[in-house]
Amino acid sequence: MMDCIFCKIARGDLGSLVYEDEQVVAFNDLNPKAPVHVLIVPKKHIEKLADIQDGDDACLAGHILVVANKIASDRGTAQDGYRVVVNNGPAAGQSVWHLHFHLLGGRELDWPPG
Ligand code: AMP
Repeated sequence: MMDCIFCKIARGDLGSLVYEDEQVVAFNDLNPKAPVHVLIVPKKHIEKLADIQDGDDACLAGHILVVANKIASDRGTAQDGYRVVVNNGPAAGQSVWHLHFHLLGGRELDWPPG
């Protein structure tokens, strides 16, 4: 989508990427909540997690988790532990309507989240 901020980032129009492949990009969160806070985003515009269907989109979601593992490892947080979060919908705090997986690490993470 032309005016979607994460589509613009995925096209390489804004900011710098920490990871890119054919299906996804990853970049540092603008307002980081942990020393490692990376967003992993499909290049394809999907609004939210609830729109993921079995099939290609499910493969894409699985691929994003593998990419999260790789970035966690590259950032040196794999050993201590890290968290992958998707906020789906307003009550969960979703504020950007392009599917994104938060990778958080580099500190102790409280549970349950707020
Ligand atoms: P959510 O609240 O789950 O939808 O997460 C949206 C995240 O996107 C927030 O953590 C924001 O800080 C982050 N964000 C919004 N705009 C940008 C941007 N232009 N570049 C990087 N991160 C962004």
